[in-house]
Amino acid sequence: MAARWRDLGGGSFVMRSAGALGDGVLLNTGLVVGAERALVIDTGCGPRHGAEILAAVRTVTALPLVVVNTHAHWDHFFGNATFRRDGATDFWAHVAAARGMAASGERARAEVAQTEPEMAAGAGVNTDLVPPTHVVDRDAVTLDLGGTSAELFTLGRGHTDGDLMVGTATVLFAGDVLEEGADPSFEDAHPADWIQVLHRLAGLGGRYRLMVPGHGRTVTAGFAARMADVMAGALPTRSVSDSPYGPAAARSLAERLATLR
Ligand SMILES: [Zn+2]
Repeated sequence: MAARWRDLGGGSFVMRSAGALGDGVLLNTGLVVGAERALVIDTGCGPRHGAEILAAVRTVTALPLVVVNTHAHWDHFFGNATFRRDGATDFWAHVAAARGMAASGERARAEVAQTEPEMAAGAGVNTDLVPPTHVVDRDAVTLDLGGTSAELFTLGRGHTDGDLMVGTATVLFAGDVLEEGADPSFEDAHPADWIQVLHRLAGLGGRYRLMVPGHGRTVTAGFAARMADVMAGALPTRSVSDSPYGPAAARSLAERLATLR
């Protein structure tokens, strides 16, 4: 067992890795290992990061892999091609995330120019944008991994309009709907809805012992409640200096609210 993975129990694991993000905003990749298949949750920023994640997955399991992307942001799905080359055929995301990847995926390549130059150029091995082959809409989907399963479902729009939750027997992988150790990212967010989603998450504490944010440390349901309270306090804020968030997030939130108005 590679030391990089944290064993969350029940066949669920989480690993933090940097990819193109820099050490301050490590990506959490989830892994759920069944008897017949293993589920990989979020694949990183491009072929380099994807290869790092795949190599770590292969220290845990040799099983065929199924991929879930929690939403359409590049750090969560630009590694998909690496997993397709490894043999994965099933890629899951929310239906709105699939639309988002198609609409803005090519444009997002510029974001990884520094650390994933091949991905930025769209040239080289494993630089294709691999869209979902299967989508989740309102109805939850249960993936049978053999002896264990994972439930894919949405709690509504929040961080984006296509946020997918992945629940196991004890763990909920929440993507960037939960953000630990950094301010939330509002660029594609629906902030008022997000607060409601966070309240719903907070209510799932009896169901899920642990919750894994898209970035940062693993938390429990109380964290979602606190995040909701902070966000609710930020919405009426007029000036950046009054915000509970840092200047960048406060400005991003203000811009997003202006766009949605
Ligand atoms: Zn995101």
